[in-house]
Amino acid sequence: MSLDRRVGMRRTRPSSPPPHIHKFGGASLADAASMRHAATIVLQQPAPPPKVVVISAMAGVTDVLLDVAGRAARGDVEQVRSAAQALRTKHTETARALVRRGPVLDALVQMIDTAIDELEQLAGGLGVLRELTPRTVDYIVARGERLSAQLFSAALREAGCQVAYVDATEVIQTDGMFGRAAPDLGRTDRSARRVLAPLLAQGTVPVVPGFLGATPEGQVATLGRGGSDLTATLLARALGAQEVSLWKDVPGLLTADPRIVPDARVVPQVHVREAAELAYYGAKVLHPRALIPVIKRKVAIRIRPFADPASLGTEISRRRTLEQYPVKALSAIPGQALLTIAGNGMLGVPGIAARTFEAVHREGISVSLITQASSEHSICFSVPAESAARARKSLEETFRPELARQEIDSVEVQTGLATLVVVGLGMAGTPGIAARVFSALAEAGINVIAIAQGSSELNLSLMVDAKDAARAQRAVHAAFQLSKIGGGAVMHPERSDVVLLGFGQIGRALAPMIAKVKRDDLTLRIVGVIDRSGLIFDARGLSPRRLAALGAAKSKGTPLAKAVGGGARRASAAEAVEFIARHALANPILVDLTADDTTATLTSALSAGMHVVLANKRPVTAHQRHYDALRTAAQAHGRGLLFEATVGAGLPIIDTHQKLIESGDRVAKIEGCPSGTLGYLFGELGRGAAFSAALRGAIAKGYPEPDPRDDLSGMDVARKALILGRLLGFAGELEDIAVESLVPAGAERLSLEDFLASLEQFDDAWAKRVAAARVRGGVLRYRAIVTPRRIRVGLVAVPASSPMAALNGTDNQFIFTTQRYRNNPLVITGPGAGPAVTAGGILNDVLKLAGGGAGGGA
Ligand code: ADP
Ligand code: ASP
Ligand code: MG
Repeated sequence: MSLDRRVGMRRTRPSSPPPHIHKFGGASLADAASMRHAATIVLQQPAPPPKVVVISAMAGVTDVLLDVAGRAARGDVEQVRSAAQALRTKHTETARALVRRGPVLDALVQMIDTAIDELEQLAGGLGVLRELTPRTVDYIVARGERLSAQLFSAALREAGCQVAYVDATEVIQTDGMFGRAAPDLGRTDRSARRVLAPLLAQGTVPVVPGFLGATPEGQVATLGRGGSDLTATLLARALGAQEVSLWKDVPGLLTADPRIVPDARVVPQVHVREAAELAYYGAKVLHPRALIPVIKRKVAIRIRPFADPASLGTEISRRRTLEQYPVKALSAIPGQALLTIAGNGMLGVPGIAARTFEAVHREGISVSLITQASSEHSICFSVPAESAARARKSLEETFRPELARQEIDSVEVQTGLATLVVVGLGMAGTPGIAARVFSALAEAGINVIAIAQGSSELNLSLMVDAKDAARAQRAVHAAFQLSKIGGGAVMHPERSDVVLLGFGQIGRALAPMIAKVKRDDLTLRIVGVIDRSGLIFDARGLSPRRLAALGAAKSKGTPLAKAVGGGARRASAAEAVEFIARHALANPILVDLTADDTTATLTSALSAGMHVVLANKRPVTAHQRHYDALRTAAQAHGRGLLFEATVGAGLPIIDTHQKLIESGDRVAKIEGCPSGTLGYLFGELGRGAAFSAALRGAIAKGYPEPDPRDDLSGMDVARKALILGRLLGFAGELEDIAVESLVPAGAERLSLEDFLASLEQFDDAWAKRVAAARVRGGVLRYRAIVTPRRIRVGLVAVPASSPMAALNGTDNQFIFTTQRYRNNPLVITGPGAGPAVTAGGILNDVLKLAGGGAGGGA
């Protein structure tokens, strides 16, 4: 018996490493895609440590529920019905997008229906009673978090994770004060451990609705607006977590509210006391009491950007960093009133201050700033504007005798104020901070109505007229150069997630180039690579090392779907793009490096909000109808469609054309040698090399298309010519181009292997052609002539003195004849083939699009 019990105990008291708590804020949870993104974040966190997830209500839901409660009690039946319907649709649609059809989805939809039906019934009852208690409000509002946590559990389970929904009332214990329940730390510690530890030990991820707790009677109560942050830190404390990630819609804790101070910056690290001070004094980014449970614990709390899971955001911990910044951040509390008790009779009378605050406290009003002049002639303090009248009444009652004896002149109220709060641990040891604040405000012409500095000197509070509050924050922010904190990393660096469709030679040259882009204002990452077998995807970005390993494996013949290291899945290109598009990526750019007909895939990528960069000529040389559809899709979705690398590799050919047109020129003709492969081939032949050796050399250097006959046939040049032609207004198709093929007769029908094995048999014929051209005093070149009307592509013998004859190696040449450059055409010459230059051209397009918005586009 006792043995059994011991075994049993061991089972029920499992131990696992301290968990990592992830809290997802409501602002980030807008729809199914963001729920899925949140699930991806959780799944991609390496385990161990085990994870606990805290979920807020979906964006806007708490506000709607509060509004419904209020309207219901006023009998506003119509509004209540339509709001309830909107909530039902929002949650049901999210469920349907997250969970496959079947019993799980049915149960989820059923649960949503029950929650909303019940809401409607409750609302009906309130309409009759015309009475709304805080208890009912909490019961109504709680369903926001409960529903979203259930939806999130389903999303996580759908992704193959072992999940348990745990209701907040089972783990968070409170004093039962509805609307702003205070947690009972001891009891919460015990119940959270009892319920969650066994789940964690089994490898299950508990998902807990935030913002809620149990009253001592077991009813649900809310912890106050923004309370999910508090749920996360309560659980962190109970479970001894060393890390808490609060995923929010901001890149971290900022030096100021970004809506007010546009050049607010992420503070890389703040001390818990600084963060607590900021939260308490109005910084909306954290619940005011969120840090209390962990103030003495060794836990790193991070405010992390939902949109950029790889970023660590801001660390809130016990470390002291950034000591050169005595001031780290600002916030402001709007809607404040200042109460002043003044009178000569106060001088030297003990207990006036104590009685003052006792009077306010009795009314349950919280005071945020207190000053007393050293003459003791007056006491000033601030309260929320809506409590000012009550505070005044209470004070007048308390001091009735003093008022009657005129020892106290009056109790005055000044409204329409805001409190500006300047926070930083370093203020204590740095003289002159207050002076700097005042001179900044004075320079901005802002009047300071009252000041207080806490004894900790961690914060300096100033009251200003509410209409000056925003300007005051900007002035103080600038005075302390807070926009330079943490190296001045911009708050919203442009970010772009790149997906490579095709991972051949060019892709493998491009990947490290993208990794090397170092710009303060831009983060560029490759999040996915796709080949014929499938894809590798990681929303956090694939490291250069991983990409190099994938590249090495690919060149040895291992397809991506079989790659080691995780994130690999089997898929067609279209499925892969569709899968990736479902993730919340930042300004995504799809780079088509294939030689396939990808029009349909690209169109769906554009519709899913991706920019497209092409090295692939096919989609832009397909039938005009398809080409137009692609451009229309790009335009309709405000996305860029760039393809500079399709012509002249890295040379700025399309760009030059665009600039000429933009500046009012008209291009009449583009003539040139747009094939690096053929250029190289004829250069070698001219030097006396055999055709077979020259072509094999070109292949070894990576110049030709995958099948070199695409180059020899002139089709590759014809496609480039068509791309240029379409820029000039040529309305025809590829078939309308007269192309002279260099593929030896009969060789078209060979397999690629057989063709490559039999190259020697063509050597003689080629040697004769070269000799014939030389006799005529010229060299062979493969040339395209493009006008709006006509395109011709073929072999010509050019005189040795012409610029084309001077071309070297893979050099391409483009000669623009325009209205402006008529007699003396504009010539662009340079290397036009090879993975490195082509990748360089692509990178330019990527950078154009990553720089924000649709940036050009064809
Ligand atoms: P959650 O989604 O977790 O509930 P909140 O909406 O409560 O997140 O907090 C994030 C918001 O706080 C931001 O959108 C931002 O506008 C606001 N905010 C105010 N002050 C700051 C600050 N100093 N740093 C970051 N965000 C701030
Ligand atoms: N949903 C609640 C609110 O909007 C709690 C939270 O998001 O933290 O206040
Ligand atoms: Mg919040």
